Amino acid sequence: ADATTIIDGEAVAADVRADVTAHVEELEAAGVTPGLATVLMSDDPASETYVSMKQRDCEEVGIESVHVEIDADAPAAELYETIDELNERDDVHGILVQLPVPDHVDKRSVLRRIAPEKDVDGFHPENVGRLVAGDARFKPCTPHGVQKLLAAYGVETEGADAVVVGRSDIVGKPMANLLIQKDPVGNATTTVCHSRTEDLEARVGGADIVIAAAGIPEFIDGSMLKPGAAVIDVGINRVDAETEKGYELVGDVEYESAKEVAGAITPVPGGVGPMTRAMLLYNTVKAAGLRHDVDVEL
Ligand code: NDP
Repeated sequence: ADATTIIDGEAVAADVRADVTAHVEELEAAGVTPGLATVLMSDDPASETYVSMKQRDCEEVGIESVHVEIDADAPAAELYETIDELNERDDVHGILVQLPVPDHVDKRSVLRRIAPEKDVDGFHPENVGRLVAGDARFKPCTPHGVQKLLAAYGVETEGADAVVVGRSDIVGKPMANLLIQKDPVGNATTTVCHSRTEDLEARVGGADIVIAAAGIPEFIDGSMLKPGAAVIDVGINRVDAETEKGYELVGDVEYESAKEVAGAITPVPGGVGPMTRAMLLYNTVKAAGLRHDVDVEL
């Protein structure tokens, strides 16, 4: 069989960061320092890690970062007030509330509270609506990153049969919405699968492009794939392993068998993950550009 292309998310993310850095310099020349606020209301170590990675990423490209921590058992009003203050601040162009928020806080109210112009996650209903309508302001970072990977490796989406496994608001749904847009990295005939889908094997087996985002360790293997398919593995799953930390990260795809059949495939880690982080930086400079009328387009 032909050699499988390993899609290098670290490399493409580095290119995105270089573009972002150039945009930061343009903004600086116009007297604007882009700023991202991260808000953490959780004791979850994974969430803490994600937030600190985002802050480090900002620093690397010259984005100013502001961080607010709220006690996980504080009243929801405290989070709302924090968002209101950040909405008002001129030095904050993007606001990211790390999800999940505690159970006593209504996630939808939180997402609606963020000014749509600062909603760099792209989860505010106005931004969701704009994306669906083909007039996206901020594309959600993970599906946008996947789109960039497909484009970077010349994976033809137009006319392709794409299967998205997962229908979450942060990955599956926006991914499918991007793939069906009249756009050079859209125009795919797109099927969305979820936990009630019957005969997932047949759907996946017919796909030219498989986007796996179900959060189930290695549940798609090579035998399910159409030979030559492009396989984008969004899953990040912890499984017990004899490593220092006692676990390792695996995707939703069984990499070893899948790479024998796929035409192109993303590894985990090193595939979609770095792209998600890079697209957040991009959305932040885009927000600053929109605010100050400096053209920022990748
Ligand atoms: P969710 O748990 O919110 O959604 C999972 C989706 O998969 C649901 O729509 C669910 O269906 C569907 N699903 C569950 N079981 C099956 C099944 N047996 N067959 C088909 N579909 C199924 O997860 P997220 O979308 O937030 O994340 C998905 C994965 O991606 C996780 O591993 C997460 O860690 C990872 N992730 C990675 C990111 C990255 O940067 N690489 C960023 C974000 C997430 P139903 O709706 O019916 O319940």
